[in-house]
Amino acid sequence: MESIENMFFKNIDKTRDQTTKCAFSVLEYITDENLKTKYLKELEKVLVMCVESEHAVALSRRAAKEAEARSLDENTNLPSAQKFDEAYVENMEELEQDAVIEEIINNAPSVKAFREQLQAQIVPVSANIDDDTDLVTTQHTINLTDPISKMPMTDPVRNKHCGHVYERSTVTNMIKSTKRKKFRCPCMGCGYREPIKLTDLEDALDVKRQIILQKK
Ligand SMILES: [Zn+2]
Repeated sequence: MESIENMFFKNIDKTRDQTTKCAFSVLEYITDENLKTKYLKELEKVLVMCVESEHAVALSRRAAKEAEARSLDENTNLPSAQKFDEAYVENMEELEQDAVIEEIINNAPSVKAFREQLQAQIVPVSANIDDDTDLVTTQHTINLTDPISKMPMTDPVRNKHCGHVYERSTVTNMIKSTKRKKFRCPCMGCGYREPIKLTDLEDALDVKRQIILQKK
């Protein structure tokens, strides 16, 4: 039986995947610039919501864990319900204060990649944009070479944690063949030091699109 939390995270991943696919279609088929901007802004909001929900779940999990430790009754060594509730509320307040949600959203690889793609594709139409979310200003050239094989990519996948992109077949082979399953992101200066798992990878549709455009 799968935990509710796992199911929740899987659904978020699915939503993210569908949103990116949807954006891909918008870019491909909608020619009206105003309409294109409007749809992409809506899709960006969905991605932001995914990050916010994941973050909220992570916070409450931490708060609950700490509350459990703090609410142990000295005599029975069991958590006391009332103490738990108080500690939980207190922890949540503290954690929420610490977390700068804007920063978390802006640094999420999915949101970052989406905004970069948006910026590369469209000239913002100021008249039709109703909110004040500025597009990220760093112009980023997407690298179309697989960092593992150094060959041009054809089927790119993105590491959800650090945002680096690899060719699906080479990264999959590395994960499967590396002894004790410890293949880490090979990109220079990457801050993500955990071994890569197959479930960390998602379709990098923005890069795929660049590959297709380059061939034209
Ligand atoms: Zn990386």
